[in-house]
Amino acid sequence: MAAGFLRPCRFFYACGDGSGWMEWRPMIACRWVGQKIGVFLLGVVLASAFTYAAEPTINLVDGFDFPVGKPNAEGFYKSRGLRLREPKHLGEDWNGRAGGNSDLGAPVFAIGDGIVTFAHNVRAAWGNVVITRHAYRDTANGKIKYCDALNGHLNAILVKVGQRIKRGQPIGSIGTNFGMYPAHLHFELRHNITIGMARNSVSVDLNNWADPSEFINKHRRMNREWRAVSLPVGTYQVYAGFKGL
Ligand SMILES: [Zn+2]
Repeated sequence: MAAGFLRPCRFFYACGDGSGWMEWRPMIACRWVGQKIGVFLLGVVLASAFTYAAEPTINLVDGFDFPVGKPNAEGFYKSRGLRLREPKHLGEDWNGRAGGNSDLGAPVFAIGDGIVTFAHNVRAAWGNVVITRHAYRDTANGKIKYCDALNGHLNAILVKVGQRIKRGQPIGSIGTNFGMYPAHLHFELRHNITIGMARNSVSVDLNNWADPSEFINKHRRMNREWRAVSLPVGTYQVYAGFKGL
């Protein structure tokens, strides 16, 4: 009976009209479609497994520069430094020496070679934020370490999540968070690469945050190494609907 014969294949059920020779055609088509779907699903599984396994590789930095007044913060001063106790300030504020909003739109530079892990206007007190991730060899023990550099209140974002950046490359410009503050760069350096925008997710201490100027001054020039290392990604929580790398 045609209807019973055709029932296994929902796609071709409507094709069967019950005449003799029509009965086997949908079944063959059905098997063909089944095979194609099987191959497609296998491809999806393999592709997702491959994607999941493939972390980006990156070269270790050959040194870190300051994020403004490339490369030594020339023309800029630190108006606020790192403070881990109340009133807390988890980074540094950089302002132009000429004062006021004279630094509005001045370029903010990548402190080292790396990858952009976050680049969004998250609004509220932050505005435009760019976070970059860097790999370096710890001079104390020779181990490979990672750090994140957060740049807040930017006037413009010049990079995208996942983009590779070179030391000194402009990644944004100094802003006011759309008029909320006098123009300045809020700059944080984190040893803990899970923080992202969730600053309350970890304890406020020097295991998680670095003193930015101290860290940069300690790592101005490092040996160039040509062997790439894999860079951890997927370390951030989604923040206000925005995802990092
Ligand atoms: Zn600040």
